[in-house]
Amino acid sequence: MKENLNPYVISQVQFDQAADHLKLDPGLREVLRRPKRQMVVSIPTKMDDGSIKVFEGYRVQHNIARGPAKGGIRYHPNVSLDEVKALAAWMAWKTAVVNIPFGGGKGGVICDSRRMSLGELERMTRRFVSEILPIIGPDRDIPAPDMYTDAQTMAWVMDTYSMTVGYSSLGVVTGKPVSLGGSEGRNEATARGCLFVAQEAGKVKRRPLKGATVAVQGFGNAGSIAARLFAEQKAKIIAVSDSRGGIVNPRGIDVAKAIRHKEKSGSVIGLAGTSRIRNQEILELKCDILIPAALENVITADNANNIKAKIIVEAANGPVTPMADDILSRKGVFVVPDILANAGGVTVSYFEWVQDLQNFFWEENEVNNKLETIMKRAFHEVYETSRKYRVTMRVAAYILAVGRVADATLVRGLFP
Ligand code: GLU
Repeated sequence: MKENLNPYVISQVQFDQAADHLKLDPGLREVLRRPKRQMVVSIPTKMDDGSIKVFEGYRVQHNIARGPAKGGIRYHPNVSLDEVKALAAWMAWKTAVVNIPFGGGKGGVICDSRRMSLGELERMTRRFVSEILPIIGPDRDIPAPDMYTDAQTMAWVMDTYSMTVGYSSLGVVTGKPVSLGGSEGRNEATARGCLFVAQEAGKVKRRPLKGATVAVQGFGNAGSIAARLFAEQKAKIIAVSDSRGGIVNPRGIDVAKAIRHKEKSGSVIGLAGTSRIRNQEILELKCDILIPAALENVITADNANNIKAKIIVEAANGPVTPMADDILSRKGVFVVPDILANAGGVTVSYFEWVQDLQNFFWEENEVNNKLETIMKRAFHEVYETSRKYRVTMRVAAYILAVGRVADATLVRGLFP
């Protein structure tokens, strides 16, 4: 059977599994499996050569029963409304797994940001924010970085929103520069969260990080910092890759050197002392821990049988498809699912928002300690749920998350 790789369909398959276990009422199920609100906008942008290009952008709010919508903005040529709908749903379940008072949302613009100048990116971002302005705000929907957006992008979001409402609003967006109400530790938070859950996975699976071999697919914010943090805990990073390809060294890769090499040359490829491998091969390497940290659907029914890792920590959103999940579970691979594994990013976004609303800022240690408490508690709640229901960690995370959102929805009641 050909696997359906539409991320929105996949997000609903994952939701349905949990809804079945929870025996959700059919009406409530329909409410929770669809996005609450979807906005599609055209973004006319003046390009450097004087021409005007119109980009298409999206903001989707999947659910806001437990608090304002929350989730990043993605710039990528393959962005689609269905992808943003899936990512928004995943955010709703993610904030519920770690039990922070947010719903789930996501934004995206179809563009090849790597081929755009800083000026073009700034003008496109500002016009996008102005188009989605009616539905965002510190108590409505709070964007953040995602693939190919960063702290600078978030500063433009904050400024555009603030200039429009007429006062400086720090809490409208997270992942901002620290000089502009950003939080210490936010930049590393997704990776640090992955580290904390990998440490707990190592305990329950009796595979300590020290000496463990690790392969990291994707070398952006999550992947490169995860490689650094795992290496600091004495794990051996044997392979890393980016969109152009991968490198391997069974004796271990010096992560700091790989980061510098990518900064200089645009890719990890060619780092001294490493040999080149294809992106598909890095996923199939023999290793203790595999960290997919790039796009969706990289482990599917086609290659799941070839996976040799013992533990997968999903730094990316949606890297493993439902059919691949079944195969991995039969093979005994322990998958720490995205909505748990990469929730460190949104958790520190929550801390950033709290600091912004209170105008009172914390030290990095305080941020990291609070993050550790939340990630470890969430890991064990999911693990206990997986044992209680005899299901995978993914299904368990969904049972916990969907259950929490369903409770909030039921107790609020249906309006009107
Ligand atoms: N884009 C990140 C994610 O997928 C972070 C979202 C946020 O901080 O709001 O979790």
